[in-house]
Amino acid sequence: MSDQDHLTTQPSSPASSHDPQCIFCRIARGDFGTVFLHQDQDVVAFADLHPQAPVHVLVIPRRHVASLADTAPADNALLGRLLAAVRSVAAQLGVAATGYRTVLNTGSDGGQSVHHLHAHLLAGRSLGWPPG
Ligand code: 5GP
Ligand code: ZN
Repeated sequence: MSDQDHLTTQPSSPASSHDPQCIFCRIARGDFGTVFLHQDQDVVAFADLHPQAPVHVLVIPRRHVASLADTAPADNALLGRLLAAVRSVAAQLGVAATGYRTVLNTGSDGGQSVHHLHAHLLAGRSLGWPPG
């Protein structure tokens, strides 16, 4: 990839991309009145339905992107904003000092069950390694 590629390639999906069958697209749209721990033009964060740690937050892009593997170089700024939102939520929830884990499950071997890109923010206990 050249330095110019991120300027010349298209993003993986248009800014308005919305899949009405996708639960995370619907959450991002506010269809269920989900409480957002963070929201900006590009990403939203909300509590995981089945928390695996005392703090378990999902950070997702508003537009539909299936997974990290489906992103394009033109999505790099969005990926940066996703991680910046994780950092911001971790600070907001008071876990930045004690630490946290950020996970992006990708594809079947990665254990991805919802096919809309999301970062897990897990914190509030000592987390084991390696993952199962
Ligand atoms: P994955 O396994 O794809 O990495 O993670 C999907 C996550 O989404 C799981 O941790 C699951 O608990 C969470 N999840 C699935 N459906 C919903 C939902 O409708 N609302 C919320 N808040 N979380 C969900
Ligand atoms: Zn979606």
